[in-house]
Amino acid sequence: MDLRLDADDLNSCVQCGLCLPHCPTFRVTGDEAMSPRGRIHLMREVQDNNAPLTPEILDSFETCVQCRGCEPACPSSVPYGHLMEQTRESLADVGEMTPLWQRAMLAPLSTPVALKAGSSLLGVANKLNLVPKRLGLPAEVPVRQQPLDSTGTDVYFFTGCVMDAWQRDVHRAGMRVLQAAGIGATPTNELAPCCGALQAHAGLTNQTRDLAEQMMLNLRGDRPILVDSAGCGAAMKDYGHLLGTPTAEAFSARVFDIQEFLADHVRSLPTVEPLDLRVAVQDPCHLRHVQRVHLATRTVLRPFVRELVELEDDGLCCGAGGAYSVLQPELAGQIRDRKVDVINGVRPDIVASANPGCSMHLGNAGVETLHPMQLIDRALTS
Ligand code: SF4
Ligand code: SF4
Repeated sequence: MDLRLDADDLNSCVQCGLCLPHCPTFRVTGDEAMSPRGRIHLMREVQDNNAPLTPEILDSFETCVQCRGCEPACPSSVPYGHLMEQTRESLADVGEMTPLWQRAMLAPLSTPVALKAGSSLLGVANKLNLVPKRLGLPAEVPVRQQPLDSTGTDVYFFTGCVMDAWQRDVHRAGMRVLQAAGIGATPTNELAPCCGALQAHAGLTNQTRDLAEQMMLNLRGDRPILVDSAGCGAAMKDYGHLLGTPTAEAFSARVFDIQEFLADHVRSLPTVEPLDLRVAVQDPCHLRHVQRVHLATRTVLRPFVRELVELEDDGLCCGAGGAYSVLQPELAGQIRDRKVDVINGVRPDIVASANPGCSMHLGNAGVETLHPMQLIDRALTS
């Protein structure tokens, strides 16, 4: 089958295996088919040698977290994330991946009214303990929320879909921190209902393209666009590659993770008493391995907490991976167990995580997390 993979990209893997220790699924299974090298080998077998799509091959592709921890470790700069996204798109196009129920689950994300209604229903069901714990919903799914008001026009503040429905308090904290630095922000709300990251992970890349086009049209101009979810920011920074147009490239260049942007404005924030907390920094994969701006989290947090501690696992994935924790709960749990052990090893008071999926996934294992913006906001207002 033609997976429509770029032959040069595919052949750039020299099968050295240096990426293997950085792959969470290989670390917990020890199985070559669950490693980046094994998955690339299987992509070649399917595309070049017309290997049949056996359940084992599909399982190898479906169990990839798409954390891209393998990319920075690769001496040949294999664009693994793009290879896997294209593989999934090709398989989803012919109905070999992302069955209808998964497509139905993703459908409300791009429609604010449907998302709000679905989220409220989930909130009520969750309160009545009708939602299985393994789905990893936050303990409190907000049913009604106050809207986010604009604080100015210096930057756009991307609000998105699930995060806005479930963690709007993080947006509020981020906007207050920006305001304290003298930066006025316009929340994007209906102008940009969803970035399309989860759809791209599921191989529904045409939906991501449509959402990207819609967002680019609604957020014209040259204002920076700040994002407080690592996964969304990574997806929006990839619109240039996804659409392959100069307009999309220019749009992606306006996208900044909020920590990345604030790192250049940290001196504009008031000097306050640091929070008396030992904070462990958990780097979301899409901040560290994809956007590669994770060091900014330290820059912005350092003045506001007593102590920052690092996790000694080279940024290994926590197993959240967008919808991965729902679709692959067993592997996601095993990967998380390793992360929780590493976190417990440094005995933090709290963990700072700049991605909603990671914080929910870790929260479901009893790890207390806050977004870096919430910690800074707390320091500024206490
Ligand atoms: S993206 Fe993550 S899970 Fe997938 S092969 Fe690379 S390191 Fe492994
Ligand atoms: S993806 Fe890179 S690091 Fe991994 S086996 Fe291929 S060339 Fe080596």
